[in-house]
Amino acid sequence: MKKPKIAVIGSSSMDLVVTSKRRPLAGETVLGESFETVPGGKGANQAVAAARLGADVHMIGCVGDDSYGNEILENLKANGVNTGYVKPVTHQKSGTAHIILAEEDNSIVVVKGANDCVTPDYVKEALPLLKGCDLIMIQQEVPEETVLETARLCGEIGVPLLLNPAPARELPDEVIEKAAYLTPNEHEAGILFKGLDLSKALSDYPDKLLITEGAAGVRYHDGNGEQLIPSFSVKVVDTTGAGDTFNAAFGTAIAEGQSMKESLRFANRAASLSVTGFGAQGGMPTRDEVERGLA
Ligand code: ADP
Repeated sequence: MKKPKIAVIGSSSMDLVVTSKRRPLAGETVLGESFETVPGGKGANQAVAAARLGADVHMIGCVGDDSYGNEILENLKANGVNTGYVKPVTHQKSGTAHIILAEEDNSIVVVKGANDCVTPDYVKEALPLLKGCDLIMIQQEVPEETVLETARLCGEIGVPLLLNPAPARELPDEVIEKAAYLTPNEHEAGILFKGLDLSKALSDYPDKLLITEGAAGVRYHDGNGEQLIPSFSVKVVDTTGAGDTFNAAFGTAIAEGQSMKESLRFANRAASLSVTGFGAQGGMPTRDEVERGLA
């Protein structure tokens, strides 16, 4: 199997995770139980997952010129991701997510920071790299105009684009048309296709629209009819990052030249393994683990 070259254009961040019995009320201070920092961001998560699965991964992103930025870069490198196009910027802090895990409910504040510097112009700087890729992956934690420009560039240079439309927002038709693969979960698909019956959307975009359905697996239309490729039954520890692992694994397999069906089975296997471990990146499997699970 050839080692596919994949560029991931996207976000990176440091998740600052506090556990506390309960969330503070307005104006209140409470004592928490623990604090951890965990590298995250959909772009970085997908880059790390694809590298663990054996792809030659190049991340295109921005971090702040700060200690979190260094940690984000070191974590990408430690996972074998090429970071030549991860730029430290001086006028923005690294992206952060401020997470309170409480017994009753959780809350998250995301500060995009340097992820807003992943502009269309910055993506164009990476054009020499992008031209030589088998696949380009992007998500929606970078500016909207970057997603549009990337879709156009992919059309011009003839490299397929895998767009994971998360977090959900509406998309110009042009982006939907130009993307080779779109991978919303059911909630994101509902927003993307605004009340349109999802079976109709699936048949409008055969072999392109891949709707993930959690433990049930993934649904798509193969040109003849709707198909559900079931996921694998596992003991769930933490579903954070399931979608990121799914995208990375599907991207790796399809860029290697595996068929749609094989690629979706590979993606389900990788994503199902990811939910058996804690944290987004913590549970992401290696190639060997996925292949053992498919044998
Ligand atoms: P997201 O994490 O983006 O919300 P989903 O919940 O649809 O997306 O999960 C993405 C993929 O992860 C699914 O298509 C499936 O392959 C896998 N997955 C998620 N949850 C489970 C689970 N409980 N058991 C097995 N596989 C799962």
